[in-house]
Amino acid sequence: MISEKMKNIMQSGSAIRAMFEEGKKLAEIYGKENVFDFSLGNPSVPAPKAVNEAISSVTANTDELRLHGYMLNSGFESTRQAIADSLNKKYGAGFGYKNIIMTVGAAGGLNVALKSIVNEGDEVIVFAPYFGEYNNYISNVGGKIIVIPPAPPHFLPDLDAMEKAIGKKTKAVIINSPNNPTGVVYGENTLEKLGNILKKQSIKKGEAIYLISDEPYRELVYDGAKAPFLTKYYSNVIIGYSYSKSLSLPGERIGYLAIPDEAEDSENLLSACSVATRILGFVNAPSLQQLVIEKCVDTATDVSVYDENRRLLYGALTELGFECIKPQGAFYLFVKSPIAEEEFIAAAKRHNILVVGGKSFACEGYVRIAYCVSYDMIKKSLSAFKKLAEETLSKK
Ligand code: PLP
Repeated sequence: MISEKMKNIMQSGSAIRAMFEEGKKLAEIYGKENVFDFSLGNPSVPAPKAVNEAISSVTANTDELRLHGYMLNSGFESTRQAIADSLNKKYGAGFGYKNIIMTVGAAGGLNVALKSIVNEGDEVIVFAPYFGEYNNYISNVGGKIIVIPPAPPHFLPDLDAMEKAIGKKTKAVIINSPNNPTGVVYGENTLEKLGNILKKQSIKKGEAIYLISDEPYRELVYDGAKAPFLTKYYSNVIIGYSYSKSLSLPGERIGYLAIPDEAEDSENLLSACSVATRILGFVNAPSLQQLVIEKCVDTATDVSVYDENRRLLYGALTELGFECIKPQGAFYLFVKSPIAEEEFIAAAKRHNILVVGGKSFACEGYVRIAYCVSYDMIKKSLSAFKKLAEETLSKK
């Protein structure tokens, strides 16, 4: 018999994955070219050429025992140093290799970070709408998720509500900017205010409240937006990064955690993360990918492709009358459902449009449209969106 906890998780399922499966079924019936699957955040831009060149070069030129062997749980020192150097250059971060722990993507990194700091019953604050997997990551370590309600239409974090929610059991706050699902990028003022509240509340608590920053979309920004680097605003930060989106490598499972020396108990925290990587069963991040990242640390994906998709889809949907904040980052539109969310998703599906409900992000009444798809598919989908608008907007 499977565990009660797993039974519950399986029952609640992942709406994103379910919609993805649905898309495959519809494609068999109607043909792939007639199904507009906007459900999954799977990058549509191929990994940059430099990544494949690095794979060839690393496999050809690295000692096989080093390439395929066990290593330090926190990863190759040379890779970690290359990442530290890059962050120092870009953000004046002051990292050494010791501040970086290689992880199995952002998901692996978040689980490692939470495992390292959360005691049974500790509270972790998140801001709706949020990536639904946080529920699992927090419950994996016996933590309790505290959800701050969404703040539409701007969808910036409600920091006053956060401050009120902080109590004796608060261990960490998770933020995600650029945000999945809204595309909102938190600016300097927001981060400064956030940092100040956490400083004040940590002093009051007599112990650090860690800020976990989930940043897989850090480089995916538009219109000159910038995602500010957090160490400037708060020292008790654990930065989780991933190459899944920025280098289009989600299947390769590679990312890192960065923890500054200034974080409370930094040395122990870094050691704990290294041990957590082992005891969670990852042991270490994939070795080949670490060496590839070392060579591609400053390689960038072609953001202009996502930007064109964003402009086309945002422009068309708002023109049709849908309400949606203009995303400054990531590759999602978070559209207000003109009718009940479930009904809207069903209506969209009748036009072969697949989207994910806001409920999956603890923000009912919206749908997420992942525009990391081909430009042609978006163009083709517009007549279906027009019919959907005619059918649903009149019922508002
Ligand atoms: N965090 C957010 C906000 C995400 O959107 C995702 C993936 O979509 C992840 C974490 C997990 O990323 P990874 O593939 O690096 O584990």
